[in-house]
Amino acid sequence: MITARAFKASDAPGMRWDVERVRKDFPALDQQVHGKPLVYLDNAATSQKPQAVIDALVGYYSRDNANVHRGVHLMSERATEAYEGARVRIQRHLNAASAREIIFVRQATEGINLVMATFGRSFVGPSDEIVITAIEHHANIVPWQMLCEEKRAALRVVPVDDRGDLIMEEYARLLGPRTRLVAITQVSNALGTVTPIKEIIRLAHRHQIPVLVDGAQAVPHHQVDVQDLGCDFYVFSGHKTFGPTGIGILYGKETWLERMPPYQGGGDMIKAVTFEKTIYNELPYKFEAGTPHIAGAIGLATALEYIAGLGLDRIGAWEHGLLAYGTELLATVPGLRLIGTARRKSAVLSFVLDDIHAHDLGTILDHQGVAVRAGHHCAMPVMQRFGVPATVRASLAFYNTPAELETLASAVQKALEIFR
Ligand code: PLP
Repeated sequence: MITARAFKASDAPGMRWDVERVRKDFPALDQQVHGKPLVYLDNAATSQKPQAVIDALVGYYSRDNANVHRGVHLMSERATEAYEGARVRIQRHLNAASAREIIFVRQATEGINLVMATFGRSFVGPSDEIVITAIEHHANIVPWQMLCEEKRAALRVVPVDDRGDLIMEEYARLLGPRTRLVAITQVSNALGTVTPIKEIIRLAHRHQIPVLVDGAQAVPHHQVDVQDLGCDFYVFSGHKTFGPTGIGILYGKETWLERMPPYQGGGDMIKAVTFEKTIYNELPYKFEAGTPHIAGAIGLATALEYIAGLGLDRIGAWEHGLLAYGTELLATVPGLRLIGTARRKSAVLSFVLDDIHAHDLGTILDHQGVAVRAGHHCAMPVMQRFGVPATVRASLAFYNTPAELETLASAVQKALEIFR
């Protein structure tokens, strides 16, 4: 029996958010699973796609499909225009200074690996250091470990307190003359912690250390302005941002990108090739070898326009209300422990329930129509820090409703009864 107070308008102050209207834009939300209405709470893994994005993909493939930058025919011109237009729309969304700073990659993971392979291999040497945090996704740990092994450099890890907040004094202490890069998440996928990223960047820049921001969990929820942040690199994934899979963005300051060697060799990243020498293409093409994910780029730009149209402030306010309400509801479940209670949190509810294994709990929730993620969330060091093998994670988006959170809490309660 759920006893928390009801969700009130004051939970999302000063706004009229017609969530039912918004939900109609997302066809996948309107379905039953295991005979129950779907409650989709796995948005940090991947988010659902609005009809506008689906239409953009279908529109591209049904009218404009051709290779870019190469053809002299009209369809190729249309495809190139759409692809480069998408780059400019994404540049504007992030407020990057130039479209030359927007590199299309497969996802956040590839963006980080690109920086590791080009910046890292060029500017990191023996005994140098790279600073990350204890709450990084494996995508922002393993590439740096690989680089450190190759270069005999060292990884330094900023610890977190029991709430999941970064210990900033430790961060400041770790920055030194051997630090070559700070690579830190803006929002933790496992805990929801929102890191003080501007302060992190400011402190690193005081030592002339460049900063890579992993924005995979930030761009779907927050307005991101890379010039305001001042970061040197920023990565995110299309599929978590209501866009297609297989497309992501690496933003890099032009001054860095110019100094970095190409990532992969092949078509499009060259100006001229002879067997003696290759002259590389200008930015951003230097980093985009081979035929790109043209439809993906168009779909991602459409997704960003869609969320900008809803208003990122309004999205943030609604999700904040949902998070507060969900936190209260889950607090009423006996034996439930929330993992991650940072002072500034994004829309993630990660928890364990008594000694019930997260996978068992996740399966029971699934049978009640509630889609969550159960596991280590590709953040095993976070699990170790909090002394749990895995958690159940409900991750929210602006199309979720207070009623869905009530369903989640009831389903968890039911699981408790089954296991008792
Ligand atoms: N960084 C964070 C914070 C994430 O949450 C994820 C995915 O969950 C990633 C990076 C990797 O994303 P992708 O698999 O789309 O590259």
